[in-house]
Amino acid sequence: MDIQDTVIIGSGPAGYTAAIYAARADMNPLLFAGREPGGQLMLTSDVENWPGEADGIMGPDLMAKLQKQAERFGTRIKNEVIAEVDFSQKPFLLKNEDGEEIKAKTVIIATGAVALWLDIPGEKEFQGKGVSACATCDGFFFRDKKVVVVGGGDSALEEATFITKFAREVIMLVRRDEFRGSKAMQHKAENNPKISILWNTEAKELKGDGVLKSVKVINNKTNEESEIETDGFFVAIGHKPATQIFEGQLEMEEKGYIKHAPDSTKTSVPGVFAAGDVIDPHYRQAITSAGMGCMAALEAEKHITSA
Ligand code: NDP
Repeated sequence: MDIQDTVIIGSGPAGYTAAIYAARADMNPLLFAGREPGGQLMLTSDVENWPGEADGIMGPDLMAKLQKQAERFGTRIKNEVIAEVDFSQKPFLLKNEDGEEIKAKTVIIATGAVALWLDIPGEKEFQGKGVSACATCDGFFFRDKKVVVVGGGDSALEEATFITKFAREVIMLVRRDEFRGSKAMQHKAENNPKISILWNTEAKELKGDGVLKSVKVINNKTNEESEIETDGFFVAIGHKPATQIFEGQLEMEEKGYIKHAPDSTKTSVPGVFAAGDVIDPHYRQAITSAGMGCMAALEAEKHITSA
């Protein structure tokens, strides 16, 4: 069986950037694109903050370009899922869903994360039509609009504060009577005149006609229901990194993010690197993921040449 120099798992900005760098370094990378090739940007419409795309670009178009660039330098892409890994043996052993084995000197994990959703009526229907899970991506489209943000963690506090740059009014729905996020972020949100907070409040249903118009909420203490008119609805209740298959193989952080060395993509197993949202609960941007993908490829190359 061939032993690959590097196998990349994941096809978001981190995976493709790792592939571009690895391919140009003659590492002949093999990239497993997974079940939903392209990652989270495939669910986004306009991407206006990708450097170099001065007029903005649609998420799927950006991913198609990154794929093309990776292939241009010889990346082999398989639209398959890696279902199992064994990092205790060298070379590393990976298996796809059909049980086929792949051996690799280095592995770059770029499996990303998925936003958690509330799973309430209307949420899917109005995605991209008022409903979003990324204020940094979509906040700009809500200039002078009214917006609801769900969640009480640092993400929700940060997103609510960020959206006030554009929106005229932001209402936070917090399901308990206190925030989970840091005191500093709380103070910032509480002192922002555009933000109001509804405690013990949960969203029950989203309504509209083509675009989002309102959200039905319930006070979970009094069971009182009401309806809030809104143009936007941002869900910021956390993300789940796609790391299930690495449990027991790599050291993990709390909440399933892969542990990595400071300022590096090195994981707890030498030769295994991780890049993008799978190690990053903080920034979660396409460009920061791409940067980490670059780092991972450079570190993988160094690992091979110094072995
Ligand atoms: P968290 O898990 O910290 O917070 C999730 C929030 O969403 C909580 O308030 C939680 O409520 C609420 N929530 C969860 N499920 C539901 C639901 N079904 N309905 C309503 N509300 C719900 O996630 P974050 O994404 O906010 O943060 C993740 C990590 O990233 C944290 O460690 C955070 O500190 C970090 N982070 C740091 C930032 C920074 O430093 N700038 C920015 C963003 C994140 P409850 O409290 O009741 O469980």
